[in-house]
Amino acid sequence: MKSYRKILKFNTPTRRAYINITRQVEEALHESGIKEGLVLVNAMHITASVFINDDESGLHADFETFLEKLAPEKPYNQYRHNGFEDNADAHLKRQIMGREVVVAVTDGKLDFGTWEQIFYGEYDGRREKRVLIKIIGE
Ligand code: ZN
Repeated sequence: MKSYRKILKFNTPTRRAYINITRQVEEALHESGIKEGLVLVNAMHITASVFINDDESGLHADFETFLEKLAPEKPYNQYRHNGFEDNADAHLKRQIMGREVVVAVTDGKLDFGTWEQIFYGEYDGRREKRVLIKIIGE
């Protein structure tokens, strides 16, 4: 069995962002030389997510509305976590959108369903964050 590890780095200019990282995961898969196996992609921070969905701007605006309804950023004093930090909403948004995805690798390609794309979801940006890609197989 082969394994391959790669770190992606992000520093978004905005507090929240949704970034399609499918090409970067495909590039890592190509670098790994693995043809059959599994790829794990996870955010290495508790205020960011990796998730799979459609690359459609209306949907991304809908995510923003949905997450702000469930865990609004402001007022900051509504959360017990805030005080030293102001990112309680970002922790909650990450919990809703998830930590990681696993995708099957078949014949050297990501074995996606229709319209599936991999996204990095940032909820407390403007600083360096990392995403882990781990690929195992042969
Ligand atoms: Zn925090």
